[in-house]
Amino acid sequence: MTDPADQPVTTLKGVGEKFAQVLARLHIRTVQDLLFHLPLRYQDRTRVTPVAALVPGVDTVIEGEVRAADIVFGRRRSLLVRLQDGSGTLSLRFFHFTAAQKQRFTPGTRLRCYGEARRGSAGIELYHPETEVIGADSPPRPETLTPVYPLTEGVSQARLRGLVQQALERLARSGVTELLPAGLLPEEMRYPMAEALAYLHAPPAGADLEQLLQGMHPAQQRLALEELLAHHLSLLELRRKGDVNTAQPLPGDPALERDFRAQLPFQLTGAQERVCREIAADLAQPRPMMRLLQGDVGAGKTLVAALAALRAIGSATQVAVMAPTEILAEQHRRNFSAWLEPLGVRVASLTGGMKAAERRAQLSAIASGEAQVVVGTHALFQADVVFHHLALVVIDEQHRFGVRQRLELRQKGSGTGGTGNVQPHQLIMTATPIPRTLAMSVFADLDCSVIDELPPGRQPINTVAISGERREEVIERVHRAVAEGRQAYWVCTLIEESESLQAQAAESTACELAEVLDGVRIALVHGRLRPAQKERAMAAFKAGEVDLLVATTVIEVGVDVPNASLMIIENPERLGLAQLHQLRGRVGRGSVASHCVLLYGSPLSQNGRARLQALRQHSDGFAIAEEDLRLRGPGEILGTRQTGEIAHRIADLQRDAPLLPLVQRIAAAAELSNESRQRLVERWLQNRPRFAEA
Ligand code: ADP
Ligand code: MG
Repeated sequence: MTDPADQPVTTLKGVGEKFAQVLARLHIRTVQDLLFHLPLRYQDRTRVTPVAALVPGVDTVIEGEVRAADIVFGRRRSLLVRLQDGSGTLSLRFFHFTAAQKQRFTPGTRLRCYGEARRGSAGIELYHPETEVIGADSPPRPETLTPVYPLTEGVSQARLRGLVQQALERLARSGVTELLPAGLLPEEMRYPMAEALAYLHAPPAGADLEQLLQGMHPAQQRLALEELLAHHLSLLELRRKGDVNTAQPLPGDPALERDFRAQLPFQLTGAQERVCREIAADLAQPRPMMRLLQGDVGAGKTLVAALAALRAIGSATQVAVMAPTEILAEQHRRNFSAWLEPLGVRVASLTGGMKAAERRAQLSAIASGEAQVVVGTHALFQADVVFHHLALVVIDEQHRFGVRQRLELRQKGSGTGGTGNVQPHQLIMTATPIPRTLAMSVFADLDCSVIDELPPGRQPINTVAISGERREEVIERVHRAVAEGRQAYWVCTLIEESESLQAQAAESTACELAEVLDGVRIALVHGRLRPAQKERAMAAFKAGEVDLLVATTVIEVGVDVPNASLMIIENPERLGLAQLHQLRGRVGRGSVASHCVLLYGSPLSQNGRARLQALRQHSDGFAIAEEDLRLRGPGEILGTRQTGEIAHRIADLQRDAPLLPLVQRIAAAAELSNESRQRLVERWLQNRPRFAEA
């Protein structure tokens, strides 16, 4: 019998070419894929519950005899079937039914039902249960828990269960290849793969449902380990492929760097110097740099990026600097222009909101190589952007960009390098410190540098949490701060993703504040403004012509106005910790003491309270990130939940974080053959887009 990995699904009964295409949408192509298509949860249909013992809210099987079936006319017409089982009577209620269905429920018929018990007007009821007439030839009750699988259109739960059943029969005969040498696994992890799969597709009656639901059964942990390992290996592979690419070495121009440093009003911190050296060493290599630069908000990452850019410029090549928002792109353009133009460097920019003529002019400067630095948003990705000689890409606030975009940008540079596999160096900056274990798994394809020191003279930000009921006091506080010549932010948050609703909320808050804050100059920034309007508001705030900036979370990343020393965040409980830390980092950039007021809506949930407390306690982004990971989970932290980028089938990065050191040990072990590595990745990632693109 061949390995299930080599058996196409079409070798199963009832699967033709057409249905195989439907299954392919679930990434199921082989019998092995089917075996690794794991249940989301389980139903317990092994036991019959007596009516008298029913608990509302629980899915249960009931068996009994039909006593009556009547159409009743309440608020809605419904079919009410009375069922008796010796311990009591209950009602089945159907809102949609056919005459034929009613016929099935003739008194005296024995029924088996499955559904959720609820408290209804006629006592305990089952709404639209699955029903089955019990006759001499009806199948017995299942002896195992019933799996519930992820589906796609065109496949029903029943059909998929049938297919998995067939796959399990083959598994029983042929087993499945063990890809991990037992010697690499600790005792408790040596659960044979075939047994683990058989167990998880059909746990025996009496299995610990709670443990299964939490993913803590040893069979699940064994699979989770393998899945995490497969993801890790795929990133290492990505990394290895990157290493065979070449890049232009960027030794830079010492005179240019000296002139640049001479005009800075401050000295680099020790940490900045250290990461600059790490970056310079990478850039001098004929291999593309793939480096993640982590540094808390305000640590001075932009300057490090500028020094890296200078290496490219001094080597007669171009740099692209990419920011996640237009506001931030504009700020970078200003910074880079102010720093570099005095040295004779030309800085171009590209954003989505640019007028056609302006855009053409910028594009031509980029294509001719006249512009040495190009700052922009993801507009830099667009197909019509052609670089003359792109040798370095800097990506700011990387948590907004995923692995996919990272790869796309790499492609961009390789198109311009002449030969196919010359790629630009990449520097990825993030202010969301990523907990170490997570970073090692999710960014295994990157090297890491950390700026672990803030520029001198920074005052800690004093953070307080105040209930929204004391809003007036807070407004008064803004008034006093402005009277003392300080500037402030007022940040409005909404749960809705909708930009227009967010904008509305900020607008009405700005109006309200304008009414009560006499003589305070207020400006407004939100996502619905035109780029020029946003820029004008930001520039006025930066120039001190505006005292109070009312904004949505668009100002979250990177905005730098040192004189702003007070920040009010409305309804902070709606945001994640990392985002709050980012927001708060907009103040505390100058040398005056700064304050952050968390104006929460009461009552706070327990989790909300814990989050705000963590923010008050910690000023270190790493500590906050660890806390965030604990309270919210990794998808949120990495901003990848929506894109589903790190969608695991069974592993959960947060729950299974303790497995990560083991994952790294196994990945590094020589005993794991190259063939096993490759098959592990195929088994778990099944040619998913992320891998195919690499
Ligand atoms: P972030 O790391 O959050 O992107 P920025 O690069 O915006 O931080 O820097 C924050 C502020 O600190 C800026 O005003 C910048 O000019 C200033 N800065 C950067 N490095 C130093 C330094 N070594 N000494 C003093 N100020 C610095
Ligand atoms: Mg920044």
